[in-house]
Amino acid sequence: MELSSPVTECKRVGPKSAQALARLGIHTVRDLLYHYPRGYEDRTKITPVDELSGEMNQLALVTITAPVRKIRIRGGKVMIQADAADDSGNIQLCFFNQEFMKNVLHEGDSYYIYGKASGGRFVRDMINPEVQPATGEFSGEILPLYPLTDGVRQSDLRKAIRQALDECLDKITDSLPNSVRMAHGLATARFAMENIHFPASEEAAAMARKRLIFGEFFLLAAGLKQRKDARVEEAGKKMDTRCVSEFTRKLPFTLTGAQERTLGEICTDLASGFVMSRLVQGDVGSGKTAVAAAAAFVAIQNRFQAAVMAPTELLAAQHAKTFAGFLAPFGLNCALLTSSTPASQKRQILAGLAEGSIPFVVGTHALLEERVSFQNLGFVVCDEQHRFGVEQRARLAAKGESVHTLVMSATPIPRTLALVMYGDLQVSVIDELPPGRKKVDTFAIGEEKREGLYGFLRQKVAEGRQVYVVCPLVEENEALELQSVTEYTQKLREEIFPDLRIALLHGRLKPAEKNEIMRTFACGEADILVSTTVIEVGIDVPNATIMVVENAERFGLSQLHQLRGRVGRGKEQSYCFLLSDADGDTRRRLKVMTATNDGFKVAEADLELRGPGDFFGKRQSGLPEMKIASFSEDVKTLALAQAAAAEVLEADPNLENEENRHMKRAVSHLIENLERS
Ligand code: ADP
Ligand code: MG
Repeated sequence: MELSSPVTECKRVGPKSAQALARLGIHTVRDLLYHYPRGYEDRTKITPVDELSGEMNQLALVTITAPVRKIRIRGGKVMIQADAADDSGNIQLCFFNQEFMKNVLHEGDSYYIYGKASGGRFVRDMINPEVQPATGEFSGEILPLYPLTDGVRQSDLRKAIRQALDECLDKITDSLPNSVRMAHGLATARFAMENIHFPASEEAAAMARKRLIFGEFFLLAAGLKQRKDARVEEAGKKMDTRCVSEFTRKLPFTLTGAQERTLGEICTDLASGFVMSRLVQGDVGSGKTAVAAAAAFVAIQNRFQAAVMAPTELLAAQHAKTFAGFLAPFGLNCALLTSSTPASQKRQILAGLAEGSIPFVVGTHALLEERVSFQNLGFVVCDEQHRFGVEQRARLAAKGESVHTLVMSATPIPRTLALVMYGDLQVSVIDELPPGRKKVDTFAIGEEKREGLYGFLRQKVAEGRQVYVVCPLVEENEALELQSVTEYTQKLREEIFPDLRIALLHGRLKPAEKNEIMRTFACGEADILVSTTVIEVGIDVPNATIMVVENAERFGLSQLHQLRGRVGRGKEQSYCFLLSDADGDTRRRLKVMTATNDGFKVAEADLELRGPGDFFGKRQSGLPEMKIASFSEDVKTLALAQAAAAEVLEADPNLENEENRHMKRAVSHLIENLERS
């Protein structure tokens, strides 16, 4: 039997079971070995009968105390019943549909029984326990519990995997270099494989787990890094970037040092003759848009088309305006393409893009539609990338040949996760805010301060400022969300601020209505904008200086930081109030916000407190499935494994050392899979 042999080579696996296993993704003996248990049955401990908890399967050692009975029950069926006991108490064993048990159990003999006890103190019983005669020495086992599917039984899988281990364990190679294994005190691949399935002890199972999790992350990190290093070599459009200074000279401000540096890195990529895949990470308000516009300008001056994709219509519309403003001095225009672009206009834009007469377009997902084609697309920007999957980014870029891609993320992501989420990208960081920005004063307050807050808002509005009030999603239920935010707004309008102009923005509005409301707010025709989180990304209204977040405990810290980023955009001092009546942990979480304005620090804290779920959301696509490691539970291991992988690749970039031979094979296999997905 080889690792690559079909599962049918295992005993007890016929064509029927093979079909069922295929549903679990198991085709070969190797797949079988990588089908890890989801837990174990611990049969190492014998529990006294009177301590059987009834909550889980447990093992007891009992003696049959009376003749075994055969009882007729309803439907002409038969139940076998046996009284048993140990020193601590009595238990009745009942077997349904197992008439043969009458011949297995004998009065006076002892047996291991394994099952879930039930019943009360006096009539404790166990239904259909597994039974083994207690002859000779007790040797307890920890048995694996595998994820199953219809047509595959636990016992069959155990047998098949036991056989696979017996025949193939020595064919497993260790993809972790020895030095890494030693440095991190990890078990060998063979030990891990044996003990993840049939652990000799709890400790052995834990060691196996640790090793396998590390190994998975190690290979992933190594694969992503190698691929990224290779990507840099893909031939791309070579651009003349000297024109960039023309652009920056006409900007209404001077770029910050961090913007300059990032733009420099981008220009180096564009001029290199290799395809650019670059992520720009920058805190909210750090000025990513101007940098992207400068790069788009370079592409356009080099006679390529450029496209910017934003996650919402609101943001796309705002970007179109901003970009158009930046490009106007050069007589360049910017088309806007979203799903609500009127049909006739859409036709014109599509034609213009296809024949090349429109050099620059900003849009939403609408850009990805089949019928959108370009004459000569050379440069794309994905804004707020975490909203898009890797695949969408690739689809936009695929509308041209070797297109340079710039990804912009306003959600700072901790280093560890950035490598996994953006594994194939070079990274630039804009770690400096434009001058004159004041720190947003942030307060976490409870209900008792609400009156005071209202007074403060009134005063600030009297001074001419504007206010955002954000209400969180209610239980994923749009109708309820709408109702509660509508009632809330009504209360503000009628009772609290009858003299102020209050606008309401929510997810159910049509894009045109949203735009109209945003326009109203942006030009100062409303004092307070009540909103669900639709304003989360990118909106830019410098005169709005106060952000109030209701039920702040419902938001992740990174999300709160995004929201806070909507203010602090002008010269006036800005404020952020996080309302929450929650206490304890939640208050501590919100305190992070009051302590720092640095998005990266907020992200680190968020990761520590809540795990990375927030960062990944649903967009784990593009990453291989982890068999045992979890991005949410094993972050610390992820960091260690990444560092270890980077170290190995630094010393041996092409993995040519003998010690790294198996790692090399595993990594190239993984890269192949990444490319295919
Ligand atoms: P983000 O990085 O969050 O996308 P934006 O690109 O929207 O930030 O920029 C935020 C605001 O800062 C905009 O009003 C923009 O015009 C302004 N801005 C950008 N760069 C500078 C700069 N170097 N000096 C002054 N203001 C700037
Ligand atoms: Mg932005």
